[in-house]
Amino acid sequence: MRHVYLDYSATTPVKEDVVNEMIPYFTEKFGNPSSLYAPGLEAKEGLNKARKQVADLINAEEREIFFTSCGTEADNWVLEGVADAYKSKGNHIITTKIEHHAILHTCQYLEKHGVEVTYLDVDNEGFVSPADLEAAITDRTILVSIMMVNNEVGTIQPIKELAAIAKAHGVLFHTDTVQAIGNVPVDVKDLGVDFISMSAHKIYGPKGVGALYKRAGINIPSFVHGGAQEKKKRAGTENSAGIVGFGKAAELAMNGLAEHAAHSDQLRRMLWDKIQAEISDITLNGPADFTRRHPGNLNVSFDYVEGESILLLLDANGISVSTGSACSSESLDTSHVLNALQVPPEKANGAVRFTVGDFTSEEDLDYVVEVLKKVIDTLRKLSPVNGMEGWK
Ligand SMILES: *Cc1c(COP(=O)(O)O)cnc(C)c1O
Repeated sequence: MRHVYLDYSATTPVKEDVVNEMIPYFTEKFGNPSSLYAPGLEAKEGLNKARKQVADLINAEEREIFFTSCGTEADNWVLEGVADAYKSKGNHIITTKIEHHAILHTCQYLEKHGVEVTYLDVDNEGFVSPADLEAAITDRTILVSIMMVNNEVGTIQPIKELAAIAKAHGVLFHTDTVQAIGNVPVDVKDLGVDFISMSAHKIYGPKGVGALYKRAGINIPSFVHGGAQEKKKRAGTENSAGIVGFGKAAELAMNGLAEHAAHSDQLRRMLWDKIQAEISDITLNGPADFTRRHPGNLNVSFDYVEGESILLLLDANGISVSTGSACSSESLDTSHVLNALQVPPEKANGAVRFTVGDFTSEEDLDYVVEVLKKVIDTLRKLSPVNGMEGWK
């Protein structure tokens, strides 16, 4: 059976060059990076190189990069850290209704501890209105956190414009760029942001390693307490092999950005064209203007059927896709992102996210659409609302 992976926004395979760069750090260069003898120093050199590679990807300085255990940790750290460090200034954070759960659930936690959170609405393509942000800022606002690229529908926010509004009011700005790095240019100086979160496993690096960019001059408390690693800001013996892999993945992402984005965009458009040609009663979720969405993202609602049923039948044919986001695969609630875009529940239930990447080919897409057409036909024949009566 053919296997086609179309879930690159959930995670990516680790590229061979990345694996090869990592291997010595499990074996010869296994020393503790804090140790002062040769194997430790070799490991420390690996970390230094990776820090430069990650900094270069986002046009930051090495001292502004702090490695974490994942993108989620970076998101938790910045929200909790700013809430703590700036509590004498205020207790208000502004975010959006379409953030990743790493942001939303941290905000809910902070709300239990006296922080007030405003969740901005988005329009029906997922865009935040700069005027809404401006109106939400008060003299108690300490942080704005708005993701750069949405993981479910791919919306690319106008971060530069939004960050300028926060800055004009003297408010710190964080953006979760986990889906952005490697897919769209991310330049922290040009964007004018104070913090960004990143993760390696969405850019062909290993799982279990991420980073927080913290602009030089801003101070937030340590999140994991213990040893003096990461300039005393993030304790715990460094995941040297993982960090080295992240560095290599960042270098490949930087050098290959234009080519990767063009390849993804071309295949994503091709997939959309083929689906439209073969299957009726469908709706695109997220921005209609493909230049304003993640280059590999396609999110489609299939009327009269459940996304979960589509996912399972595609899986039985070797095809991996997701409904909404991977984080909601264990709950049957409709996606908070599609809800925020005001996608009606019955259409949200039939939504499937396809994300293409560097190893996707045109032949893969032909196979996917051929199977998808059969799967949708079968499910629609079985559907209790077949004939469309009662389905609105
Ligand atoms: C995947 C993802 C995260 C979480 O990153 P992990 O490294 O898996 O913890 C955070 N934000 C967004 C937008 C993501 O897509």
